[in-house]
Amino acid sequence: MSMGGHWRRVRDLATADVTVLGAGVLGLSCALACLRRGARVQVIDPHGPASGASGGIVGALAPHMPENWNPKKQFQFESLIMGRDFWPWVEQVSGATTGYRPTGRIQPIMTERQIPQAHRRAGQAADLWQGLASWQVVDPTGSDWEPPTDQGILVRDTLSAHLHPRKATQAMAQAVRALGGVFAADEQGIVIDATGWAGLKALSRDLGAEVGNGVKGQAALLQCDGAGCEQIYADTLHIVPHTDGTVAVGSTSERDFDDPATTDDQLDDIVARARMMLPILANAPVVERWAGVRPRALSRAPMMGAHPNRPDRFIVNGGFKIGFGMAPKMGEAMADLVLDGIDTLPDDFRVSASL
Ligand SMILES: Cc1cc2nc3c(=O)[nH]c(=O)nc-3n(C[C@H](O)[C@H](O)[C@H](O)COP(=O)(O)OP(=O)(O)OC[C@H]3O[C@@H](n4cnc5c(N)ncnc54)[C@H](O)[C@@H]3O)c2cc1C
Repeated sequence: MSMGGHWRRVRDLATADVTVLGAGVLGLSCALACLRRGARVQVIDPHGPASGASGGIVGALAPHMPENWNPKKQFQFESLIMGRDFWPWVEQVSGATTGYRPTGRIQPIMTERQIPQAHRRAGQAADLWQGLASWQVVDPTGSDWEPPTDQGILVRDTLSAHLHPRKATQAMAQAVRALGGVFAADEQGIVIDATGWAGLKALSRDLGAEVGNGVKGQAALLQCDGAGCEQIYADTLHIVPHTDGTVAVGSTSERDFDDPATTDDQLDDIVARARMMLPILANAPVVERWAGVRPRALSRAPMMGAHPNRPDRFIVNGGFKIGFGMAPKMGEAMADLVLDGIDTLPDDFRVSASL
């Protein structure tokens, strides 16, 4: 039986066609895509929306380098372009802010070797990004929202955007409700398991082999009005100017950790480096310190598709460091697969790629 036929059979028996486990950005993007196609959707999350990694504060939506192109980069490119309509649509349906702004990104050029590389990438972006966004080598303007650059030039790209992860996830949950989705307790119909780090651990137990793990990250919010500016990526730091008069700085990347939710002197170091880099932040008060755990599949790619040994069950996970940028297209690709049996997934996104 086709997946579409299967869906119709399930529809006759239950009051929900699809149950999404997990109200993070990936589960909610699947819920919204299924609702948009007319399915009856319920979401289960014992901790509530935005209680996992998606309850964070950084929210850089940024592409991989425009070179060595592969299906994952193409998928990410399409998802970032989709985000230009998706996040304003979430705001419109929910009546709540996501903090989305497609204001691009600047990166300093620090070594001589990076100069020809940056020009080469500009040429490749012109081709690979299909005229929908640009990657340009530019001179600094002298603005106080620019990182120091040892080579006197910067890269500015217009594909990057940013949002406020916690607000965006809560807005998605409100959009689910506005479209008739419900938050419930019992599974019905086809199940999409989007349970983040906990889900990767459970799946590893189910399959008797580790398919992924958690990578802790710490970030901080500073009080400083950078609204409307580009995000900055420099010396491994993300500096993201939110629309609410705060600026996020992050993040640590910790494979080994005892407590997933505490912050420590590694975050102090990040804040100190951000203050050094951008003097406008020097005296900005820290208004929040936050830690969460990124769900990382063994393949390092997103993990999507049918559960390897449980019928009527699908998995969407592995957002790792780019879950928000990937979410719009991951939701649509999962709805294609679950509701219509159309499989457009890149091979290295499949659960089997992490086995
Ligand atoms: C410090 C830090 C900075 C980051 N910066 C960025 C960034 O700049 N840009 C970006 O794109 N990404 C970033 N990320 C990554 C991004 O946050 C994740 O990729 C994304 O949030 C993963 O979403 P998710 O829905 O898979 O998981 P989660 O948000 O963790 O959601 C999983 C949900 O499942 C629920 N759950 C668990 N078990 C069950 C169960 N049995 N039944 C039902 N529900 C369950 C949990 O309560 C949780 O709400 C960052 C992450 C961290 C930690």
